[in-house]
Amino acid sequence: MINEKMAKTAGSNSAVREMFEEGTRLKKLYGPENVFDFSIGNPYFPAPTSVKTAIVEILDTLDSNYIHGYMSNDGYPEVRQTVAEYINRNFGDDISGDNIIMTVGAAGGLNAALKALLNPGDEVLVPAPFFLEYGHYVENYGGVLVPVNSREEDGFMINVQAIGEAITSKTKAMIINNPNNPTGVIYPASVVEELAAMLEAKQKEYGTSIYLISDEPYRELAFDGAQVPYLPKYYRNTIVGYSWSKSLSLPGERIGYLEIPPRVDDYEVLRSAISICARILGFVNAPSLMQLVVQRCINETCDIAAYDNNRKLLYNGLTELGYTCAKPEGAFYLWLKTPTADEKEFIAEAKKHNILLVPGTSFRCPGYVRIAYCVSPDTIKGSMKGFAELSKLYNLK
Ligand code: PLP
Repeated sequence: MINEKMAKTAGSNSAVREMFEEGTRLKKLYGPENVFDFSIGNPYFPAPTSVKTAIVEILDTLDSNYIHGYMSNDGYPEVRQTVAEYINRNFGDDISGDNIIMTVGAAGGLNAALKALLNPGDEVLVPAPFFLEYGHYVENYGGVLVPVNSREEDGFMINVQAIGEAITSKTKAMIINNPNNPTGVIYPASVVEELAAMLEAKQKEYGTSIYLISDEPYRELAFDGAQVPYLPKYYRNTIVGYSWSKSLSLPGERIGYLEIPPRVDDYEVLRSAISICARILGFVNAPSLMQLVVQRCINETCDIAAYDNNRKLLYNGLTELGYTCAKPEGAFYLWLKTPTADEKEFIAEAKKHNILLVPGTSFRCPGYVRIAYCVSPDTIKGSMKGFAELSKLYNLK
């Protein structure tokens, strides 16, 4: 018999993946233009052309052994230096390439950091709703994920007081995702300041180190001039996990980094441990060609304005039809309060119009659905007929 826990996990596929697979089935049946698949955060808008240019240039000009060979587990030193300089330039820090470890996306980075940090039974706080993979990542290393509800009445802002109350002597870390998947909220500097002060006080109270892991794959996806605070500036024990999956539309290429600033507690041993963890988890090093690509494209992003247009199209369309939702501030998700408390029923009704949504329970928050608007604008426009029928069904206007 295989590992019992994994056998159970295998039997409970994630709702996001299930919907994604259902979308593939329906598209074959009805044609892709008649299916409105809002299930998965797979970027629709392509990588900038500079990515292709960089790939060709690298392959044409650099030595094959250098491009494709093994390297230091942390990544190419010159790539890590470029990332550090980008951070210093844009966020006013003073780190070096030593503080950067190139990773296999944000997921690879988070796993390496958690493996290095957690002893069995250690607790990791997360504001709910949250990206459900965090639960798996924490459990991978015998940790215990402790979700703390965000303030629904305040647009799902972090509840700093409730997080403080959930901290114990076993709290090793907190994961924060800004801009947020699934709510589209951006936690502003004022809230981050409050959170940092509370965490500092708790560290003193318990005589422990509480690491703040800032998961930032949506950092550049911030709209209407919203600023995403740079967390290491506010809280000393911050580790940043970044990825180019969304900002450069490269999720399949698996490329990201961890930033471990020199001022975090037990820096030397933690940094070395994370590096070893990335290796012994089987990642060995981040994809070599992609490291060289992101170095060349460090100042580039995909078309953020296109996502902003999608955001407005979807938000305006839904609110005109009488739906209740906050305008997303960042990432590419809209968090919709379902017109019936049972979001599964709403999802089933939406599916009758070939509209695929992900239930709030998948993010530990029933009564909501997530709409991933990283899709073609035509998908949004095409879905409005179905959303109008649903609005009629639930007497929203
Ligand atoms: N964290 C959050 C909040 C995400 O939404 C995702 C992917 O959707 C990830 C991490 C994983 O990102 P990556 O593809 O870089 O591993």
